[in-house]
Amino acid sequence: MSAVPYCVKCARGMRCKENSVFVTDAPPNKPVKDEDGRDWEWGSSGDLYECEECGIQIVTGFSKFALVRVDSISGIIFRRKLM
Ligand SMILES: [Zn+2]
Repeated sequence: MSAVPYCVKCARGMRCKENSVFVTDAPPNKPVKDEDGRDWEWGSSGDLYECEECGIQIVTGFSKFALVRVDSISGIIFRRKLM
């Protein structure tokens, strides 16, 4: 069994374009404030696949979702341990 996503429209396997793509749009995604008033969101990273025929892109193979905060200046992603 292959873990490579398949584009049904084009009838071909998709190609991995980038690893560790970070996403925060996952339910339930309600920001959590910490003691300093900063917002933390639920996020995770996965692999970005693209169909070379039609160009559709998907992200799959997520790691475990965690509370994260992306620094607006440096872009550094901070992960917070769950209690
Ligand atoms: Zn396609």
